[in-house]
Amino acid sequence: MTDGGITVEAPQDDDGRRHVDQPHLERPSAARMYDYYLGGGHNFAVDREAAARVVEIYPNAALIAQANRAFLARAVKHLLAAGVRQFLDLGSGIPTAGNVHQVIDAVSPGARVVYVDIDPVAIAHSETILGGRTDVGVVHADVRHPDEVLDSPITRRLIDFDQPVGVLAVAVLHFVSPDDDPAGVLARYREAVAPGSYLALSHGTVDRRPENVAKVSGVYRNTRDPTTFRTREEVAQLLTGWELLEPGLVWLPQWRPDWPDEATEDPSWTEMVCAVGRKV
Ligand code: SAM
Repeated sequence: MTDGGITVEAPQDDDGRRHVDQPHLERPSAARMYDYYLGGGHNFAVDREAAARVVEIYPNAALIAQANRAFLARAVKHLLAAGVRQFLDLGSGIPTAGNVHQVIDAVSPGARVVYVDIDPVAIAHSETILGGRTDVGVVHADVRHPDEVLDSPITRRLIDFDQPVGVLAVAVLHFVSPDDDPAGVLARYREAVAPGSYLALSHGTVDRRPENVAKVSGVYRNTRDPTTFRTREEVAQLLTGWELLEPGLVWLPQWRPDWPDEATEDPSWTEMVCAVGRKV
């Protein structure tokens, strides 16, 4: 359906069955827990209780989320400077400060964004805050079904696949299990975009404190978004086919920090790695 410049849709099977679900207010969701870490107001008691259990394990969860958002903003700024004028934000989340369209507005107005998320609350809030804009679209879809995302009329209206696209997979692929073939999913997006397109990715890792990560996965197991945190090596494999920009696959604070001293403390505290790659 289309409402002014804002378009929200949920893909359906031929029989009309939705691939994405309605709000699960009795189960925590990753989108609403992340909103809680970031100090947002779009979460419910069930989310706050689960997030509090994560914060017991990782007292710096909010700082990790902020470092991830900061990487997202730096990557988008870099891609804008490289001439990218259209973005596909996979697992975009509940809008908070520093959304992709806000980075664009501040740096290089006129570039287009398609936000994609599985969470109905993220979609509804995106719709609310974006009212009237024709340069931003919202697609309610499961990123594990790339063809639904890519063939969506909203995506097709806003993204010209003959031109470079900035594909953003920021803190989303650790919600894609091995059974759902994350490498194959990413490969499908890579195939769909023109040479000169980019992928910005961040991902939670297991290497540094596996016991804590297992506990966090135990919390998320009871949410609607179970996690698969991966080793650095496994994340590197997901990036196959993308030519990584300097400095390669690094801890979040290390990817082209805004200030030279930003990454001087041990940056592995974020336990999340990130990279930006180019399709050649
Ligand atoms: N990308 C944003 C960022 O980095 O700030 C939000 C990250 S948040 C941790 C993860 C988001 O991915 C949530 O909004 C969640 O709903 C979404 N998500 C998880 N699995 C998904 C799927 N299969 N399809 C679409 N969105 C998904």
